[in-house]
Amino acid sequence: MLTLDARERFFERADIVIDGSRITAVHAPGAHPAAGAPAVREIDGRGLLAAPGLINAHTHSPGALLAGTMDTESHPAFMWLNQADTSARTPREVYVSAMLNAVQMLQAGVTGAIDHFPAQNFGPEDIAAAVQAYRDSGMRMALAVRIFDDTFGDLFPRDTPLPPDVERELARLALLPPRPLAQTRALTEDAIARHHVPQRRLSVLPAPTNPVRCSDALLEMTRDIAQRFDVGIHTHLLESKVQTRLALERHGCSMVEHLERLGLLSPRLSCAHTIWVDDRDIERLASHGVTVVHNPESNLKLGTGIAPITQMVAAGVPVALGTDGSVTNDNVQMHEAMRLAATLGRCSEPDRRRWVTARQALAMATAGGARAMQLADAGRIEAGCRADIVLYDPRRAEWTPVNDPVRQRVFAETGASVHTVRVDGEVVVEAGRIVAFDAEAILDEARPMLAAIRARNAELHGFARRMRELFP
Ligand SMILES: [Zn+2]
Repeated sequence: MLTLDARERFFERADIVIDGSRITAVHAPGAHPAAGAPAVREIDGRGLLAAPGLINAHTHSPGALLAGTMDTESHPAFMWLNQADTSARTPREVYVSAMLNAVQMLQAGVTGAIDHFPAQNFGPEDIAAAVQAYRDSGMRMALAVRIFDDTFGDLFPRDTPLPPDVERELARLALLPPRPLAQTRALTEDAIARHHVPQRRLSVLPAPTNPVRCSDALLEMTRDIAQRFDVGIHTHLLESKVQTRLALERHGCSMVEHLERLGLLSPRLSCAHTIWVDDRDIERLASHGVTVVHNPESNLKLGTGIAPITQMVAAGVPVALGTDGSVTNDNVQMHEAMRLAATLGRCSEPDRRRWVTARQALAMATAGGARAMQLADAGRIEAGCRADIVLYDPRRAEWTPVNDPVRQRVFAETGASVHTVRVDGEVVVEAGRIVAFDAEAILDEARPMLAAIRARNAELHGFARRMRELFP
């Protein structure tokens, strides 16, 4: 058993005692005082490797229907096509998409995730549909309510003015119209008040889509809501070079410095991507305890850059890992994210002592994710922690022989050896099959959905394709 506790303990054989949703003890087999008592249910995990569940600290559930839809498109083209595929969804489509994301994550050992939701303007009915999906999935989820009140200026390369017909079309379609601040505040606060119950596996937090698409007033409001409700804040940050330039033009300093001035930098904040930062930005992130959520596969697919994770780790920035949504990382696989987190920076770092190790990559996907989710009692198998546990079957070829459980989990495992998943002590996956809900029924329902959405959004698709021609 891999505990990932402070002492890095590994047990060849051990009992994990669970009472309700918590681990109450970890010790030698049969040593528990109540072992064998009639009220105690014993589960035989002999031959399996127990480990803390993985946490995907950045995904977008609306993307779950979009695997395989894009390849070499530019970042603006990606975003506009994504808008066309995620607009005007029904609550049922929101639900099925969130469940489909959960199916993939659960089957590959993910017990918790931050869903930066949605990609669009939304109403309470969309939030309710996503929340219902999280509850039915059995996963531990953070609903990061995605808000903005400015234009998506970073999605139009500024040195290329739009042709007049495209400008007109953009105005007519009124894509992503900003909401009045009071309305955004009401929606966000209402979502937190209704659904934020972390002891029942669900937290809700304000989540600017990206600070370059937000006014200072909205960012300050986000800070105040997070403090008042004692919740986290999640955002995309400096994913593309153009976002760095926009921040400099607008604020006269880097976006990280601007967020510091606004009082946004704190351990509450987790930032996805965070690629285009300099040494002073990294120092600021470290000194305020901001968690950076590294999304290596999405960054590679979009070609947006390689985040300076080696430097961040050396500077003491807490790092978590995410897959991003299926539109930019088609299989939301955390084992791949861990492998890339360990290996991606190696070619450009001649000093091997600074390389991200398998142990560090695994910590990003467990303790780092727990920190991003504002959970002090997750990410390890230890008395007092939440019982979010994955059992792997090490009888499979990639584990034969078991030489080093950490290295094999990061470098060899694909997610295919996941045997059992427990969240809050409840069995969600057993013998490789999801038992918490009917996954086959979700897949059947999801299959025709994208075609229906595209038929409904044909006009938007026409516009998105035109943007792809303009920004190939
Ligand atoms: Zn994202």
